[in-house]
Amino acid sequence: MDSNYKSISDLHTLLVEKKISSVELTRYFLDRIKKYDASINSFITISEEEALRLAQKADERLAKNNHVTALTGIPIALKDLIITKGIRTTCASRILSSFIPPYNATVTEQLITSGAVILGKLNMDEFAMGSSSENSFFGPVKNPWNVERSPGGSSGGSAAAVSAGLVSAALGSDTGGSIRLPSAFCGVTGLKPTYGRVSRFGLVAFASSLDQLGPIGRSAYDCAIILEAIAGFDSHDSTSSDTPLPPYSQYLNDSINGSNITIGIPKEYTHQKGLHNEIATALENTKNFFMKRGVKIKTISLPYTDYAVSTYYILATAEASTNLARYDGIRYGLREEGKDLLDVYLNSRTRGFGDEVKRRIMLGTYVLSSGYYDAYYGKACKVRRLITEDFRRVFAECDVILSPTSPTPAFKIGEHSHDPLAMYLTDIYTISANLAGIPAISFPVGFTKNNLPMGMQLMAKKFNETQLLQLVHCYQKETDWHTRIPETCTK
Ligand code: GLN
Repeated sequence: MDSNYKSISDLHTLLVEKKISSVELTRYFLDRIKKYDASINSFITISEEEALRLAQKADERLAKNNHVTALTGIPIALKDLIITKGIRTTCASRILSSFIPPYNATVTEQLITSGAVILGKLNMDEFAMGSSSENSFFGPVKNPWNVERSPGGSSGGSAAAVSAGLVSAALGSDTGGSIRLPSAFCGVTGLKPTYGRVSRFGLVAFASSLDQLGPIGRSAYDCAIILEAIAGFDSHDSTSSDTPLPPYSQYLNDSINGSNITIGIPKEYTHQKGLHNEIATALENTKNFFMKRGVKIKTISLPYTDYAVSTYYILATAEASTNLARYDGIRYGLREEGKDLLDVYLNSRTRGFGDEVKRRIMLGTYVLSSGYYDAYYGKACKVRRLITEDFRRVFAECDVILSPTSPTPAFKIGEHSHDPLAMYLTDIYTISANLAGIPAISFPVGFTKNNLPMGMQLMAKKFNETQLLQLVHCYQKETDWHTRIPETCTK
């Protein structure tokens, strides 16, 4: 069966019409993982037994037509910082390499309740810190379009697995672009919802004021289906929102023609040094696509753009340094003995964390230390406010903002590993949405002459995911970039 690149709704039709069972579908994806993942390394843990058990249960539900949802029997996988009861959750770190959680994250629970089949846990940058998925204790993830290239990070395993057809969709997390950047690099669609739209309970915290979970799929439609299953208020997460939940997938076919939408393009983004010329052309083409469908285009200004990367790397590292204090060799994960308590902490953390995580903990501790707090952390909080204001102001002039997702297509594995600053700059277009808490989506818009996928980003006002999904769905109904398959995964 050639189901690997079927949409979730096509798979759903096959399942309800009993043309295929969930167990068969699950076996099919497990076989593909065995066949192709040796060269991509997108999975850290494959939970085969548990997946087949969930598939069996889904088949029973389908047979009785009992609580069948759009996800019942559909195989998916989760980034390995989403807690799964009884299934190892490592955050791609040595310190948690044998940690088996005693409970499920809210999103895990919601997906299981909807009948989805969880195939396993996906590789990533350690504790989601990175833009390349190279910072993993389990080895780097490779881009299915070219295995010498990075799939982007930190949800590189999620995007690579979707792009290689090893799962029908996946969950990722996005603190500063980690859903969108890998989606762009791997030619798939990824949505970072509004901060608070999806519960963070059971998402291992990196930077709590920025972290958000979201879907990575083959299309906006698939992302809408997943978002419907995971969004909503959760009493376990005090930052989750009770804003009413629209039936996203039902709105997607609404026409954008005549709907009076204005797309803003920030001049600071297009004037950015280092913007790859093929990506600049792709931006032009995407703009023209929407213009031809009656959307108005407007040049806008986000004057604080230049400060976004430094603001983010102060706030994210500050929050990370506090969040990661809990890994002390006593309460969770790896424990290395020592002559006294301090030595146990020291040895466990020294051996448990990788270099990038240590760099962030040191940076974060520094910016929070007395004497530097006002100059760095305090200042960054103020600039975050100004960036948020920038967006509030421009959303009075336009409905959504269009930009590239990343200034370049996928870079080579190792290309930036000795230059953390160059790596941090790949986040230039994605980071502001996290600072402002607004939703943003990345979708494929073509390929470079070297056959690497390119992605564009749309950002909207808080809780306006519907508009993002609608625009991308409209684009995907008339283009086929999102249906392309990397050659390595067809042989
Ligand atoms: N690349 C950014 C970082 O390294 C964003 C990571 C993320 O969104 N989790 O922090």
